[in-house]
Amino acid sequence: MEKPEKLIIDGKRLDGRAPEEMRPLKIEAGVLKRADGSAYVELGENKVLAAVYGPREMHPRHLQRPDTAVLRCRYNMAPFSVEERKRPGPDRRSVEISKVTRQALEPVLFLELYPRSVIDIFIEVLQADAGTRTAGITAAAVALADAGIPMRDLVSSVAVGKIDDMIVLDLTKEEDQWGTTDMPVAIVPRKKLVSLLQMDGNLTEEEFKRALDLAFRGCEQIYQAQRQALKEKYAIKPEGE
Ligand code: UDP
Repeated sequence: MEKPEKLIIDGKRLDGRAPEEMRPLKIEAGVLKRADGSAYVELGENKVLAAVYGPREMHPRHLQRPDTAVLRCRYNMAPFSVEERKRPGPDRRSVEISKVTRQALEPVLFLELYPRSVIDIFIEVLQADAGTRTAGITAAAVALADAGIPMRDLVSSVAVGKIDDMIVLDLTKEEDQWGTTDMPVAIVPRKKLVSLLQMDGNLTEEEFKRALDLAFRGCEQIYQAQRQALKEKYAIKPEGE
């Protein structure tokens, strides 16, 4: 892809969005029969599945912890998910994303309720267009709730950044690649806790504050969509529907 001359023209981004506008979002809970919990998220061109297993006894046993469950996360990109085929298997990037995903989700779980156990989260990126780590966290939170695992709250996640000197919500691949800064954020909405904050590029203190505020507002929209997806799956429907 060639570098576009400008990423914002007449106040609009190349895909027609306003700077503070998110891509179309679709969330579905409980999409996989054999997982204990699952969710599917589409955010623009991103397509991400999350599957949760557990809590179940940890094997091998030497990895068990006597006082708590262990949360394990695996973020994986399908070879066909990106423009240039991704070599299958873990790499530095996916190991890092798996780790920060685990750290983003841990604060809402009561792991101490399940000693010697493990909760596994598998995140599979089927199609990528920047923002897959945040879409993965959003999907995983819904999948954990769908598994019936007690949680303090959901976790909602989106990236913000800077392109053409403007602070924007939810960067596309083009904007991520040619923009100045990409800042993925995850939030525990009710407590307004930040559980993931990474930054590729740089921002002034004032820009950072505006970007974080925008991330909070974006996560609020995501939170509503997550709750709606769970309600759609679990609301008791009147008979005959
Ligand atoms: N990407 C790619 N090949 C790779 C890794 C990433 O084409 O091996 C693309 C993909 O579209 C991804 C984007 O680059 O969504 C941005 O990647 P980044 O590492 O910033 O993570 P993300 O924004 O997906 O959380």
